[in-house]
Amino acid sequence: MPNLILRLALPSPLRRLFDYLAPAGVSRSALQPGVRLRVPFGRREMIGVLVEVDSQSEVPTDKLKPALELLDTRPPLPASLFKLCLWTAQYYQHSLGDTLSWALPVLLRQGEPAETRQERYWLVNKEASVDDPRLARAPRQRDALKALAQHPHGVAHSLLSQLQLNRDSLQLLHEKGLVRVEVRRTQPHAKPAHWLAQPELPLNAEQRAAVNAVASGWDQFNAFLLAGVTGSGKTEVYLQLIHQCLQAGKQALVLIPEINLGPQTFDRFSRRFNARIALLHSAVNDRERLDAWLAARDGEADIIIGTRSALFTPMKNPGLIIVDEEHDASYKQQEGLRYHARDLALVRARQEDVPIVLGSATPSLESLHNAYSGRYALLKLTQRAGGASQPRFLRLDVKSRPLDSGISGPMQQAIAQTLKAGQQVLVFLNRRGFAPTLLCHDCGWLSECPRCDARMTVHQRYQELRCHHCGHVEKQPSNCPKCQHVDLRPVGAGTERAEERLAVLFPDYPVLRIDRDSTSRKGAMDRLFATINKGEPCILVGTQMLAKGHHFPRVTLVSILDADGGLFSADFRASERMAQLIVQVAGRAGRAEEPGKVIIQSHLADHPLLVQLTEQGYFAFAEQALSERRGAGLPPFCHLALLRAEAHKPGQAESFLDEACSEAEHLLGELGLTGIELLGPVPAPMERRAGRFRAQLLLQGNARAPLHRLLNHWLHALEQMPSGRAVRWSLDVDPIDL
Ligand code: ADP
Ligand code: ZN
Ligand code: ZN
Repeated sequence: MPNLILRLALPSPLRRLFDYLAPAGVSRSALQPGVRLRVPFGRREMIGVLVEVDSQSEVPTDKLKPALELLDTRPPLPASLFKLCLWTAQYYQHSLGDTLSWALPVLLRQGEPAETRQERYWLVNKEASVDDPRLARAPRQRDALKALAQHPHGVAHSLLSQLQLNRDSLQLLHEKGLVRVEVRRTQPHAKPAHWLAQPELPLNAEQRAAVNAVASGWDQFNAFLLAGVTGSGKTEVYLQLIHQCLQAGKQALVLIPEINLGPQTFDRFSRRFNARIALLHSAVNDRERLDAWLAARDGEADIIIGTRSALFTPMKNPGLIIVDEEHDASYKQQEGLRYHARDLALVRARQEDVPIVLGSATPSLESLHNAYSGRYALLKLTQRAGGASQPRFLRLDVKSRPLDSGISGPMQQAIAQTLKAGQQVLVFLNRRGFAPTLLCHDCGWLSECPRCDARMTVHQRYQELRCHHCGHVEKQPSNCPKCQHVDLRPVGAGTERAEERLAVLFPDYPVLRIDRDSTSRKGAMDRLFATINKGEPCILVGTQMLAKGHHFPRVTLVSILDADGGLFSADFRASERMAQLIVQVAGRAGRAEEPGKVIIQSHLADHPLLVQLTEQGYFAFAEQALSERRGAGLPPFCHLALLRAEAHKPGQAESFLDEACSEAEHLLGELGLTGIELLGPVPAPMERRAGRFRAQLLLQGNARAPLHRLLNHWLHALEQMPSGRAVRWSLDVDPIDL
């Protein structure tokens, strides 16, 4: 009998496959590509995915180890998704095994069966009562019992967190015999005859045109850029498209940038549809994630909503892909497999032959360029739906004006007026903490991070200095560590300081801070939103967290405290990001009856970019920015790949990159490739971070194909390079942070 050599992708950074012998007693026909096997690896065991079966190996047969166990009777990942993973690994020059492990739910990576389980259902026992004396001192259990009693047919275990039912409380109720668990074979519920749980809104002409354009070509790949100003009813367009998709018996995948937007989107979709909606984001637990994933794969979820990684959710009958807020940087993964979920969504839509809609009020320059050059159809929504008008912009020059914790006099007056009129104010400052630096007024000492080329931020509330780059934390000193004097002063303002000052200036109104620090506790965000939604006059102070997707009908003034960072940063994308942020934050204002006003404080109030953005709008800005990028030969008019390296000793990263650079030059000649430039190596913008010295080498190509051809050969060479062992290096294809 010929040997059966199994070629497996293992979760390892090594960009190669590993050969094993078939496990004893397993027949050839059971070994379909895509099945998982448990294998020995060094002293450990690993779970690998079968890529191919061969009769020969470069490794002598007596050196090959047999796989231990075959885990699947059929591949857990459908062929189309396996193909997407192959494409992804190839394009991002990443190990296939590691790519597959980003794509598979954690439990499948750990060897859990990949079949829909029998589902457990929680039910209230007949004799149970909320007045049970044992619950007198257990308010959470009482609440849980009350909530569960609303569902006489029981609640599936996988839906507990979506319905905000606390697992631990239920477990305790179970121990008291007040609730029971029934195991039922999950019946894929019958598809509802009526998908709509709520009538659709009559569309305006632009929305109608957008829906018709997409709906004219189901079952084929077409890319659409839905560029609609904030509040123009993009979500309504998505909903009506999804309705048509459901009616055709197909599934829709909706990507959203932020986990915070998940519940809000889920609510809106489940109010509209009698559909099985799966919500996938980093906060659902592993079991729920696997269940949702399996339901989507087996056609038992109709709508799949999720953040970046949900892109890899398999679907039995894909019909439509939507990427909301497509410009958002969180679609790009910045570690490990550095993929861009929006870009991969396009690849997937093409592979699956379905339409894809990218939506944004502030499309990325990449997508706009694709639309202007005809690769995507451009659908514009220029009016706010439901009659609200666009906010007015005012640039406030703060040159030589005193700033009180970052807030100028005229800004304070505008805030006061708005509050007096009974409306809400949103103060935007994209900097967490109290102040970005602590300074000794006597000797000039600055609170520098010992591990990074960066200052530590003052977090007054915790009396701490924290580095936002490496996480280093120190107690806030009361004396200068250098000269021992006590005159230490926080310099500049973050959200914590603005919050504190605003509370003093406007003692009669609540001041709510919304940033990563204030919302890290579970439920904190919901509580903040509940207060805001009451509609009483108040001040919201926050970072870009506030800019995304939320709807604050009572906010009529948006105060942008600092727009200068984006105007003089070295990163060529900084102005694009600033413009997107300003327009998105501004879009939170005046979404209901009252018109909104946006005041931007700047030391560069006459900067042409700012003038154009505020007077002519985002598209005028974007067209100007695109023509500048074209002139400078920057993306999207070229393609980039960035090789990053870091090491504990200074110079080590550079010498690896120097060698890498010579190798690339050599390969360019050998392969006869042109139109590729090597820029660097240079120190990274923040050279030292978390104690490592970092450098980078940029590759810039006129066309994608030759660049990728070079990368293919180059990466193999880099993996062999001895100097690469002393450093930590990684390649970022289409980097967005340089
Ligand atoms: P976007 O997603 O573009 O920010 P939304 O879809 O959230 O916009 O719509 C903004 C508001 O306008 C929502 O309250 C929505 O219900 C309402 N809306 C959307 N489309 C219409 C329409 N055709 N007629 C009336 N109201 C609409
Ligand atoms: Zn000092
Ligand atoms: Zn640091």
